[in-house]
Amino acid sequence: MQNGPLVAVIGGGIAGQSAAAALSEAGALVTVFDKARGAGGRLATRREGGLQWDHGAQYFTARDPALKARLAPLTAQGVVVPWAGIVGTLAPAGFVAEDGTEPRFVGCPRMSALVGALGSGATVYSVEIREIAPRGPLFTLTDRHGEHFGPYDAVIIATPAPQAVSLLALEPALAARVAEVEMAPCWALMLGVSGSLGLTFDGAFVAPDVAGGALSWIARDNSKPGRADGAVETWIAHASPDWIRTHLEDMPEDVAAALLAAFTQAVGTSTRPDIVQAHRWRHAMTLRPLGQRFLLDPRRPIGACGDWCLGARIEGAFLSGHDLGLATAARLGLVPRQASSSASQ
Ligand SMILES: Cc1cc2nc3c(=O)[nH]c(=O)nc-3n(C[C@H](O)[C@H](O)[C@H](O)COP(=O)(O)OP(=O)(O)OC[C@H]3O[C@@H](n4cnc5c(N)ncnc54)[C@H](O)[C@@H]3O)c2cc1C
Repeated sequence: MQNGPLVAVIGGGIAGQSAAAALSEAGALVTVFDKARGAGGRLATRREGGLQWDHGAQYFTARDPALKARLAPLTAQGVVVPWAGIVGTLAPAGFVAEDGTEPRFVGCPRMSALVGALGSGATVYSVEIREIAPRGPLFTLTDRHGEHFGPYDAVIIATPAPQAVSLLALEPALAARVAEVEMAPCWALMLGVSGSLGLTFDGAFVAPDVAGGALSWIARDNSKPGRADGAVETWIAHASPDWIRTHLEDMPEDVAAALLAAFTQAVGTSTRPDIVQAHRWRHAMTLRPLGQRFLLDPRRPIGACGDWCLGARIEGAFLSGHDLGLATAARLGLVPRQASSSASQ
């Protein structure tokens, strides 16, 4: 029978799962709670009519040795693959391809595969946690139906910053730090197009003077490895921050229609897509990060991690969770099996 310390991780995105993996490897028994139906968070895939779109994160870069080490076996297994799409900038005069950038990676066959393959070994429950309460030196969790979980020896909060603030009600000093973080929303447009639009690129950062400044990014999702590359093209477009500011509370159908109009104008097509959908991410990107790798209470083993600690990217989320997992393992008297990342807290 296993008898390691019990750790609860709230949030099953890349930060939560990398924390869970580091703790499991050190000998903790980890349970992950995520309010969504499956783990992955913003590494998300929408499926519709036999098609799929990565409607959250598009791709990621890997610079830190800790992330590279974690990715090496996943690359060998084909779960993480380079995306060799033609990417550049869409300007009023047309598309300009970039050259010589660092490799972009994607999860295969979908972005969330990366999270599943981190190998945390943790049990994942689809539960929305509302409260964390101390119970002597331990912690209990309560979900939105009033059900209790625990007790746990340690708790890691790996949600977007606004949710972390409310979960940290028992730690006002940490909550105040997280409250300084600012996150911005995003609208994502998903298109399914029979045949081909005949465009010469797979991904484009959209210049502000194209299509009224409504878009920031366009990508042919099925150009990524492992996606069905058949008779239908799947396209993604992200609204620009300025556009989102004035359309955040609009109905999804209205947003889809407006962003489709911007998309067709930007790429110069008259082809009507068969599938047009919009998805709103309320906490998509970090505008003002915390400025340190993670938070861990100095008195008891409760901490918080996420992309919002150092930036707005998958790599930052991984490193934040990984290092908080190691620090929590050390606090519990476990010997971590992984080195911490290059720029620890
Ligand atoms: C549209 C879009 C495009 C992006 N593009 C890129 C890109 O190209 N490259 C890149 O590197 N990054 C990109 N990002 C950012 C990237 O997705 C994030 O940095 C990263 O996925 C964050 O991981 P995380 O684990 O910190 O948070 P999340 O992935 O948000 O995970 C947090 C989890 O916590 C859960 N949760 C929240 N509250 C509770 C609760 N009370 N109880 C239980 N569970 C809870 C949520 O359901 C979620 O699964 C993009 C994001 C968006 C939205």
